[in-house]
Amino acid sequence: MPAGGYFGRALVADAATGTSATLPLADEILRAYIGGAGLGAWLLYRLGTPGAGALDATAALAFVFSPLVGTPLTTSAKFAVVAKSPLTGMLTDALASSQFAIAGKLTGHDAIVVRGRAPQLSVLLVDGGGTALLDARHLVGRTAAETDNELREQLGRGWRVAAIGPAGELGIRYATISHDGRHAGRGGLGAVMGAKNLKAIAVRSAAKVATADPRGVIAAARDLRERSFGPATAKYRELGTLANLLAFNAIATLPTRNFQAATFDGADRLAGQATDEAVEGMRRVARSSCASCTIGCEHIYQVGRGKKARVEYENVFALGPMCGVGDPDAVLAASARCDELGIDTISAGGTIAWAMECAQRGLIDAPWLRFGDPAALLRALDEIGTRGTPLGSLLGEGSRQASRTVGADSASFAPHVKGLEMPGYEPRTLHAMALGLAVNTRGADHNRSGAYEADLSGDLDRLDGGDAHVAAAIETEDRAAIMDSLILCKFLRGVFTDPFREWAELLASVTGWDVTGEELRATARRIVLAKRVYNIREGWQPSDDWLPDRLLTEPLTLPSGRVATLTADRLRAMIDAYYSKRGLDHDGRPVPGTVDDLSLA
Ligand code: SF4
Repeated sequence: MPAGGYFGRALVADAATGTSATLPLADEILRAYIGGAGLGAWLLYRLGTPGAGALDATAALAFVFSPLVGTPLTTSAKFAVVAKSPLTGMLTDALASSQFAIAGKLTGHDAIVVRGRAPQLSVLLVDGGGTALLDARHLVGRTAAETDNELREQLGRGWRVAAIGPAGELGIRYATISHDGRHAGRGGLGAVMGAKNLKAIAVRSAAKVATADPRGVIAAARDLRERSFGPATAKYRELGTLANLLAFNAIATLPTRNFQAATFDGADRLAGQATDEAVEGMRRVARSSCASCTIGCEHIYQVGRGKKARVEYENVFALGPMCGVGDPDAVLAASARCDELGIDTISAGGTIAWAMECAQRGLIDAPWLRFGDPAALLRALDEIGTRGTPLGSLLGEGSRQASRTVGADSASFAPHVKGLEMPGYEPRTLHAMALGLAVNTRGADHNRSGAYEADLSGDLDRLDGGDAHVAAAIETEDRAAIMDSLILCKFLRGVFTDPFREWAELLASVTGWDVTGEELRATARRIVLAKRVYNIREGWQPSDDWLPDRLLTEPLTLPSGRVATLTADRLRAMIDAYYSKRGLDHDGRPVPGTVDDLSLA
């Protein structure tokens, strides 16, 4: 009998045949890795073929649910998509919210893992009857949203769809998987699905799952719901993450023109809060939310006359200041185009910004590709998303691989860590975040390390990284590991005053386990370490825990006149301290004996 909230099994499907088998998940594994990103790391270690390429047929692609999915707990309708990333060659996990999470779990499984390659473009169907393949050749080249609509009409009521756009079919290394208009965005999971000849996975509920303490869960859900209306989430409700844009610009942490600057003159126009009609800002037309969420951080903006786009800080940063583009309509149009093509906005913006700098320096022959030119941004996106030109194909590989092809010194300003393009946080002015980005197993990532919170807290000097920054980076990594495994939305994090204890209580009421906050702290460390162990097995090297040379050799002068420098020596010292506190050796590998405790064998 599995613990409450669990089915105690994963479905392992073969896309080559449409058949599947069941993998029992023992209670001790579920308790050790919980679900979502944590259980996904365990599944990838167990079911991925060691050394196989991310786009090989044998590669594993896991859709992982959690014990909280299907409960009334706010923001819990989430799932993780986990695979080896075609951008980094290491573990990637992307979280997303929608009814797909609930329907996928209620197929009767804690995870659905897909291996193999279908003989032609197909849809994998999963419901109570098992798995089957459906011919999808009529959907070639369709957007994920079109695919979703068409399949739901074709399949009928109750089916939920996760699909790829044209970029996933073409193997663009930062292609996304979309569902209900939401995206599992980072790391190229759409390319992994495309390499399996799967246009979509469709799931339908067929089972029920009980919690250990239904009354306790309902009481906790009511309490959490009330707290979710409070001041800790006000920013997300009122303006969303776009609120960061002006705040980051004011403190010189808004990466601009491929990290050549940290402030952007056109930030005001992109900030989405212009009330003066003389200012042609972005026009917000609606607010929305993920399934089962009481916060509602999604802000919808008008794109031109017809379309609408969801706007968050990261897509505006990546397609705006990072590319030097200050035209709000162009940034919104580019964002909508990324959704249609099915590509990650951060990697797309970062790679295009790098290419703009290459063109500026005469390293690639594309004089039209200029910083600040909206038409160039949109043309580059189209060339990437359709692999329409040699330049588009080059940029579809991401900035790391493209810089290896272009050569000269272009790698020194390629904006990535481990191959994953950098989010909108300037490491030279955020030293805790610099460490968080460098050591993160997923690559340059702001969701698995929230170390920027410590930098912005005012409690430590964000320009003078040291032991306090290391401790903060570890704490935020551990918190993210648990939130991403439970799974709860990170935007809820501010409502918890004693998070590990409170999360343990939530997990206990769902599962019936006598889990404590201390146990969850150990669980967090286990999950972070398991991801590192997976990466080491797949070829991680100590030099992968590092930042682009530009950030360590080019100081920034702040508006205050203070010079922000992040030297290689400072970063090295913080990484060494991180390794020591994490129980790793000088090269970042687990000390002997540690791995035996991970239940990976
Ligand atoms: S806060 Fe935003 S991202 Fe989080 S679950 Fe709610 S709508 Fe989705």
